[in-house]
Amino acid sequence: MKRSDFLKIVGGGAAMTAILPSTLRAKDAARSNEYIEPVSIATWRFGLETTAEAMKVLRAGGSALDATEAGVKLCEADPKERSVGLGGRPDRDGFVTLDSCCMDHLGNIGSVAAVENVVHVSSLARAVMEKTPHVMLVGEGARQFAQEMGFPLQDLMVPDSKREWEKWREKSDYQPIVNIENHDTIGQLSLDEQGRLAGICTTSGMAFKMRGRVGDSPIIGAGLYVDGAIGAATATGHGEEVIRVVGSYRVVSEMERGFSPQVACERAVQKIYEFFERRQAGIQDTQIGFIALDKRGRTGAYALRPGFQYAVARGGEDPELIDVQALLKS
Ligand code: ASP
Repeated sequence: MKRSDFLKIVGGGAAMTAILPSTLRAKDAARSNEYIEPVSIATWRFGLETTAEAMKVLRAGGSALDATEAGVKLCEADPKERSVGLGGRPDRDGFVTLDSCCMDHLGNIGSVAAVENVVHVSSLARAVMEKTPHVMLVGEGARQFAQEMGFPLQDLMVPDSKREWEKWREKSDYQPIVNIENHDTIGQLSLDEQGRLAGICTTSGMAFKMRGRVGDSPIIGAGLYVDGAIGAATATGHGEEVIRVVGSYRVVSEMERGFSPQVACERAVQKIYEFFERRQAGIQDTQIGFIALDKRGRTGAYALRPGFQYAVARGGEDPELIDVQALLKS
């Protein structure tokens, strides 16, 4: 898409900032003096369950990290969720490989990438954070570490994934497939009663990816970032584009500059769009979504194109699924 076409989509020659939803900004401002209660937010529809789970921990006085881990583990263990944990779609060679990272309010970080046979890679990332002097383990080394730590090893390929992979192979189309149906990471952020923030991102990554390909999700700063004094952000979608703009760090740093979580997400998505424009790269198969939670419990989310949803659980209320506004119309 050329810049001129884009400007038509967003309404004539209006400046980039004119497309920011002012209603949301006003709502953010109105919330600024609100009582801070536990909050958990997560990407996509499965976030309804994972934030509800996190809320149980938060309401019992648990930490943001424990709550977030409890939440995402539900999704990792569900073989019907085809983009995370058990049942995640394989790479083009038929290996299910998982990526995850975690970060807490103190800046502790842990990450694992391209891990096979471990369902709860979020817990494995946490183990890297808590039990090693390192921040990232990959591939066979990460699997070996999992074994040493007593994580059960199992086959992550479920029959439905295998069928899909075999069908995909019939065409022998070795182009990376990137669209909004075949890759949905769970990124979850929580704020606990003590005002501590934490986040976890976990995924099987892009379906039928090249063997060895790692996306944004286990990369601290790209798929996830937490600054305990400011806020937290996480990403889903086309990982290469998120890495390019150091997406989640960008969202948090926009919050540090004073923007609300909502506007911070919008600015990060706009930057991704600008990079597409600059490279004159095709944007048609790309979806990106950011969600953010600040220290005061304010939330925000924004996507490149419509279709992204996120769940918000706040205090004693049931989690709510929110349709996220997008930069592009379709
Ligand atoms: N961000 C993930 C990746 O690129 C995939 C996704 O969120 O859908 O691996």
